[in-house]
Parts: sequence; structure tokens; C-alpha cells
Amino acid sequence: MAIKKSKEDKNKLVPDEVAAKVVREIYRMKLSGMNATGIAAELSANRILTPSEYKKNEKCSRLKWSDKVIIWILQNEIYTGTLISKQQFRLENTHEAIISRHDFNLVQQIMKANTRTTPGCNKVHLFSALLRCGACGGNMTHRTSSYKGNQYRYYQCMTGKGNGCTASGAIKEDDLTACVSEILKSHVNNLVTVDSMLANPRNQFALQKVTVEYDEKIAERKQKLEKTLPYNNRLYDDLIEGLLEKDEYEYFKVEYATDIIRLKQEIKDLELERDNILSGKNEQQNLLECLRQLNDATTPDRNVLLHLIHSIRMINKTELEIIFDYQI
Ligand SMILES: [Zn+2]
Repeated sequence: MAIKKSKEDKNKLVPDEVAAKVVREIYRMKLSGMNATGIAAELSANRILTPSEYKKNEKCSRLKWSDKVIIWILQNEIYTGTLISKQQFRLENTHEAIISRHDFNLVQQIMKANTRTTPGCNKVHLFSALLRCGACGGNMTHRTSSYKGNQYRYYQCMTGKGNGCTASGAIKEDDLTACVSEILKSHVNNLVTVDSMLANPRNQFALQKVTVEYDEKIAERKQKLEKTLPYNNRLYDDLIEGLLEKDEYEYFKVEYATDIIRLKQEIKDLELERDNILSGKNEQQNLLECLRQLNDATTPDRNVLLHLIHSIRMINKTELEIIFDYQI
């Protein structure tokens, strides 16, 4: 779904913009903490066509998305521009990516952690898959319990003393949220350069220089290609007019054809590399946007947490260790 064979060139894969929008939306929902059932329900409710219905071009149908289809889409590397052959060979950059490698890896990380949700609730808890027990390294899961009419929400290491955890500690959700917010805020405040970095003329200049270099290389190839094409087109006329012998004609025909294919490929590769560099800049902007959002919000957003944090270790009830997952 969303990646199809080009109409002009059957050997080329191109994104199908309508379906690509749905795929991006599915990833966005997953990153915001929804599970496959929740995503499927939301898409069905919004009457979005499922892949098979979309393929058949059906207008009116059941519009029932299943968990399986959602999971299949969330695990399919094709959306990052990578093709996996039947023999399991990986071919990277075979086509335009519609999901960034970063977001794809994040989704895999969330899915691997097998985050469970409370029955009847399609949202994953704020710290699921992020919080680890400082004593045994095990996952800490969200629990709710009632005592004298009050509900308590907390995270607990599920390993247990019998399975080798010496602490089996628990932490209240409110305490955890407050503590993590505080650490994150002081962390962001230490990055005095957040804004200045983005505006840093040196960074901008370096980026500009790189793209100019690529543009020059691309222009040079295009010029060569433009020079070669008329020669190639004239070959047959030259043969007919007797300017070329048959063997000369055959020789040049192969020669020009090879040149044209090579130049076209080089142009494509250079354009892709240049665009990748530019999208790297976008990733950095996203990151800075996340950091800024964190500074403004009272409670961190799960999407922001997943972007910035690799894991949180609970040393004890008042001590947390945060391992960050980004580079500036
Ligand atoms: Zn533990």
C-alpha cells in the first residue's frame, strides 16, 4: 500500500500520495501512543478505505480496518525507501521514503516493548516501554489499584524477587511525571544554544555550501547529458547519409547509450544525496521543536518523550536516570 509502480517507468517505484497520507497518519497515531486496535477503529470511523478496498477502487464498502493490517503497515520497511527482496536482500533508497528512518525505528522500538494497554483504553501510558527497573533492568508496567475509594496509578517492576529483582520497587505516576518533567526542563535550560544553534549562520552556511556543491555536480552532469543526446539522435541519420560506416555506427551507438544511462543514474544519485542532507536538517528542526515544546508544557507529551528519551531507569523513588536518545 502507498508505494506503486510508476506509470511511465514500470521499473520505478513511486509513492501514491493519497495512500501515503493514510500511512503517515497511521505512524503518527502509533507515535502518539495509540495501539493497533485504536488506530483501526479510528480509520474505520473516519471511513478511510482499507488497502484492499482502495486497490479495488471501491466507493462503498464495509471499511473495516483490522489490527493485522495496521501492524503490517507499521512494520513494513518499504515506507522508509528500503526494499526487501524475496531472498531477504535489503536494497536501500530504491524509492522516495514516506516515513523517516527515525520514526520507523521509534515505532519498532515501541512495538518490541509490547506495550500493553488497559482494557477499554486505546492509549498507551505515558512511560510505557521507557521506564526500566534500576535493580534488574526489567520493564516497569503501569498498574492501577483502589484503596478506600481512591485510585492509585503507579509503575511497578514485574520481575519479582523470585526472578532475580532485588528491589521490585514501584513509583507513583504523579511523582514520576513531576520528576521527569523537572529533569527534562533543567536539561533543556542547559541547552542555551537551542535557538541560537538553529540560527547559527555557520551551520546554515555549511549546509548551503554542501547543497551548492551538489547542485554544481548535478548541473555538470546535466550539461554533459544535453551534449550527448543530440549526437545520439543524429547517429542514425549520419549512417543513412553515409557519414558513418556500419561498424562505426554500432560502436558509437553502444558508447552513447552507456554514457546516457550512466549520467542519468549519477544525476539521480546526486539529487537523492542532496535531498537526504536537506531532510537531515529537517530532523534537527523537529528535534528542536520537541525541546521547545517540552519547555512550555506542564506534562510532557508521549510523542516528545519518545523522540528524546531512550530509557528512564528508576534507581529509587526519588532518583531517576534518564538516557537521552539524540545528538545535537
Ligand atoms: Zn526489577
